[in-house]
Amino acid sequence: MERNKIIVAIDGYSSSGKSTMAKRLAGDVGYVYVDTGAMYRAIALQCMRSGVMTDTTIDETKLPVLLQTCNITFQRVAGAQHTILNGEDIESQIRTLSVGNAASRISALPIVREAMVKAQQRMGESKGIVMDGRDIGTVVFPQAEMKVFVTASPDIRAQRRLLELQAKGEQPNLEEVVADLADRDYRDTHRSVGPLRRHPDALYLDNSYLTPEEQLILLRLYFKSIAGE
Ligand code: C5P
Repeated sequence: MERNKIIVAIDGYSSSGKSTMAKRLAGDVGYVYVDTGAMYRAIALQCMRSGVMTDTTIDETKLPVLLQTCNITFQRVAGAQHTILNGEDIESQIRTLSVGNAASRISALPIVREAMVKAQQRMGESKGIVMDGRDIGTVVFPQAEMKVFVTASPDIRAQRRLLELQAKGEQPNLEEVVADLADRDYRDTHRSVGPLRRHPDALYLDNSYLTPEEQLILLRLYFKSIAGE
């Protein structure tokens, strides 16, 4: 007999390792994985390309139309999940420090959050989904059966972020990365709509010293205790 599918909401700080664990859990239990950070990055890229956003300004009057004309989907390419914006594979373009920073700024705007939250709720209508982000357990799916809140020490997060960016060909120094993470943490936790918070039901997971294999073992056990499989 097929078990009922559940929703898994994984929230946490930037570079806490939540995407890696969310992806692996989804693969292991045969669920769809949705990276909501990639959705905010896609909107930021579109804003930068169209001049709606510069390093210091955002033209909010242009956002309603821009949001309506952004169709964000995901597609598997050579075993990895890629982000597709209006049919274009933008995966490599959205993983830069500058787009990440722009995503952090644009995601503070209520109109942007409202559009993303609606799109994310539609993606989870038939459950069987692992979604990671900042507000998934608190705003997008407060009814999610499994919620996890991930953190890791600032030093370890900065090292992780540095390695990720270097692997993508960027050459930031450690100070830049530390400052960027501190800015993002501040914006994520202080915005008026959908701030990063731990839902009281969420399992609190300090990921500082866990290997990806250990993370999967833990999450798989927790998943089994909730979904029964
Ligand atoms: O997770 P990632 O670093 O790719 O997300 C990019 C930015 O999008 C984050 O800095 C965060 O501010 C924002 N974000 C958000 N809500 C989400 C996911 C990401 O505000 N659910």
